[in-house]
Amino acid sequence: MTELTEKIVVVGSCMIDFITYSSRLPKPGETLEGSKFEQGFGGKGANQCVTAARLGASTLFVTALGSDALGHDYMKKLKDENVSTDEVLIKDKIHTGVAQIAVAETGENSIVIIKGANGLLSKNDVKNAKEKIQAASVLICQLEIPMETTLEALKLYNGHGISIMNAAPAPTDIDFDIFKLCDIFCVNEIEAEAITGIKNVSLINGQLVADSFLALGCDIIIITLGAQGVIHASQNDKRVVHAPVEPVKAVDTTGAGDAFIGALAYYLAYHKNLSLNDCIVRANKIAGYSVMKTGTQSSFPYKKDLPSELF
Ligand code: ATP
Repeated sequence: MTELTEKIVVVGSCMIDFITYSSRLPKPGETLEGSKFEQGFGGKGANQCVTAARLGASTLFVTALGSDALGHDYMKKLKDENVSTDEVLIKDKIHTGVAQIAVAETGENSIVIIKGANGLLSKNDVKNAKEKIQAASVLICQLEIPMETTLEALKLYNGHGISIMNAAPAPTDIDFDIFKLCDIFCVNEIEAEAITGIKNVSLINGQLVADSFLALGCDIIIITLGAQGVIHASQNDKRVVHAPVEPVKAVDTTGAGDAFIGALAYYLAYHKNLSLNDCIVRANKIAGYSVMKTGTQSSFPYKKDLPSELF
């Protein structure tokens, strides 16, 4: 039976990734011949939405594409991924968001993103999708669209379900209302450092970092720590809980954070009997599958390829 409303709504970005591979990164002013080029579908909003859809979630994506060939391609891609595109807007006279990614042999990378149409996703666009957003079980937001648009989405969803605010990429400036408007605030080590000012975020200073987020007003704080897994804490129980990952052979961790968020949203929306920690443990496993393959969306697993005990 087709569901009438989508259980997971993502309000966020779409970017086309242009990835070059070279022995090293070019110096300023230098032209370097690389060895390989790849074009991929990315953007944190899209990555998280696609992860949840591949796990079997019914998803609605509120985003903006440019009126160019890249936007056309992305629209088709989202449809192919079974994401509802009713609220995917095409903005006139602007290009689709792009990320130019240079990867060196060492794995070191440098990235320039141009938001393009993502920068035009407005408060009004979100208001126009109000009923659909409020009907969702889980809302996910990130920081690749205007901050006022993200705040509007969180405000109008407040009290309707579980909102996950993934404060990525690392903010240089953040509106402090955001901490109280979301149910779950989720960051990686770099974003945690950018917001709290605490250096070298790790398992060792995890309690201090979590306390700092709880003091800012977060109800639940989740911090992803790469191969160290995840720590989380809440206003109810301020003690940090550690959810380790099972060791896997990691070949490319790009997009692992997005896979984790999309999977967490899936478990919160579809496995309501699970505790938050159990949802995190399973989301860790899904992110673990993604690091065993190269690429971003190309590394996200499909339900059919995963062990049944994860469902
Ligand atoms: P990215 O920016 O590359 O998308 P991120 O820095 O936001 O990633 P990480 O904290 O590196 O996110 O990783 C997110 C999650 O992915 C981790 O919490 C963990 O569940 C999983 N993960 C990452 N690296 C590994 C690894 N080497 N082995 C197993 N799981 C991993």
